[in-house]
Amino acid sequence: MMQRRLGYILTSVFILLWMTIGWANAQSQTGLPCVEALKKTKAASPRQPETRFVVFGDNGSGTPYQEDIARQMWRHFQQNPFQLALMTGDNFYFFGNVNRYGDCRFLAPYRELISRSVCFLPTLGNHDVGRPVGNSAPFFRSYRQEQVRFFGIGHDYYDYKVNDIHFVALNTNTYQAGSAQAQWLQRTLNDNDCQAGPCRWRIVYGHHPMYSSGKHGSTARLIRDLKPVLERYQVHLYISGHDHAYERYGRIPTPLTNIGLSNQAENPWQVVYLVSGGGGGDLYPFKKPCLPGLQHRRADYHFVSFAAVGETLQLSAINRDGEPFDQVTYHTGPVGLQPTTPDSQTCGNHPAPIHYPKLKPRACPAARR
Ligand SMILES: [Zn+2]
Repeated sequence: MMQRRLGYILTSVFILLWMTIGWANAQSQTGLPCVEALKKTKAASPRQPETRFVVFGDNGSGTPYQEDIARQMWRHFQQNPFQLALMTGDNFYFFGNVNRYGDCRFLAPYRELISRSVCFLPTLGNHDVGRPVGNSAPFFRSYRQEQVRFFGIGHDYYDYKVNDIHFVALNTNTYQAGSAQAQWLQRTLNDNDCQAGPCRWRIVYGHHPMYSSGKHGSTARLIRDLKPVLERYQVHLYISGHDHAYERYGRIPTPLTNIGLSNQAENPWQVVYLVSGGGGGDLYPFKKPCLPGLQHRRADYHFVSFAAVGETLQLSAINRDGEPFDQVTYHTGPVGLQPTTPDSQTCGNHPAPIHYPKLKPRACPAARR
């Protein structure tokens, strides 16, 4: 009798252990099919660590502006081929309906890049996870799982490593201290093994900005719950969208009192914060003053191109005419990214905002799936 009970206990412990390991593996999404295929090509060779990627977001509007940026990314690709396209979220306005808009707001505008095996690696924005319409909507549908399937990302937060870069995509809609996602993030950032040796760069991205002087502004929840984790694990860059504009931060002075939060950090590590939400959704002109540490901001449609080459990380923000409007080269320093040339603050004296007429989305055929 005693032996049988012991047998039950041991079996239960074994099953629990097996489930836990299985769950942990399912959580660490290091095997994205697109990225794995990329690693088998010459484009991502550990012997020639040169990683090129673009960032864009808030794009899923279906307007001609989305197409303009898609076209410029394609033109850029032909001159400077890149392997990855990181999306900062709001992939399909207004409710993330990938069944309805997957073809005409993603597969069609980015078809040339998709056909060249560029990996599109999205985060989920607030518009992608569904929300009720006013108080009278008893029903709304979340397309979260459909998007995860559509993009082949396995989970709504995930990570991947290419050459010497560790990329982590968060679902900032649900990120908070103590959550399963926050625990996963710490485990993930703790793993510093890249394709050939330790990771040189750590880049985290999500939809909501840490700091922003735009319409939505900074996200207090992330400053409280995410920023200390990024500093502890020496993340170099945090990229977001949500505010439909471009903002790049340098060293942020402490304390940052004008958003009502102490930025008093014991950790001297400085993450570079970038907002890139000009991929197609209606722009938000700036109405608030610049935040301390803001190097450059512009309310314009754009994407951002990156090249991690050896010790340097080059950034170039490119507008819908294909012209760069902000460029900087960083190298890794003891407390985070350091610009190789003095980084002048242009926030506040940037050109007058460009006025774009509001354009309607192009008609999408009815859902086929
Ligand atoms: Zn948003």
